[in-house]
Amino acid sequence: MIFVDSHTHLYAEEFLADSDEMIQRALSANVNIMLLPNIDLESISTMKNLVEKHPNNCFPMMGIHPCSVTKNVEKELEIIKLELDSGYKYYGVGEIGMDLYWDKSTEPYQALAFTTQCEWAVERNLAVSIHTRNATQACINLLKSMKQTPKGVFHCFSGTLEEANIIINMGFKLGIGGVVTYKNSTLPEILKQLSPENLVMETDSPYLPPVPYRGKRNESSYIPLIAQKLADIYEIKLEELASITTANAVNLFM
Ligand SMILES: [Zn+2]
Repeated sequence: MIFVDSHTHLYAEEFLADSDEMIQRALSANVNIMLLPNIDLESISTMKNLVEKHPNNCFPMMGIHPCSVTKNVEKELEIIKLELDSGYKYYGVGEIGMDLYWDKSTEPYQALAFTTQCEWAVERNLAVSIHTRNATQACINLLKSMKQTPKGVFHCFSGTLEEANIIINMGFKLGIGGVVTYKNSTLPEILKQLSPENLVMETDSPYLPPVPYRGKRNESSYIPLIAQKLADIYEIKLEELASITTANAVNLFM
């Protein structure tokens, strides 16, 4: 049984003290593939350092997160594009998207960064990892305005069943993480009405850990807790759930 963590920021400073042990715990839990979305211009080198240490298990993506986009968006995008074209192997374009929760004033810059990076993903046949906060519909609208939409994942999906169906019909997968294990989560009810063929698993470490680690640091070794919850929702064996979601992630990113 092999699990994929399709969205995990293991190069974050929260892991600096015990990075090797943390990766070992993930491998012991059969989480053999960890996809690392970039955040901003500063995180590029720390992400590459981690990939260099664990080249068979950590696979980087390149992109700028919507919360890191500023009015200097054109300059920021130039650096991201240089990275994508540098010959360094990237497995996806991310983390990209729209976040209208933290800062609405950068909305036009975020939109430019999102659509531009989606175009780069299409040109390079790479999957995207999309972050949306208070902006699922905004992202859907931007994707619909594009000539060609990329393949990819709506990471940390938190929308309605209606939005889930729109996203799936556009060819995207839903990224499901620790939130699905929370007592008050509406996700299990929504997911019951969708097939696991539409899902990939993720932790979004160091954030949003599954029960019983809520409130603590998240890490990729917790993927089996999310997998077990999904297996329970679909009333299938853990092995079957692992095989379906791993195939989904590998087909997209690897
Ligand atoms: Zn993330």
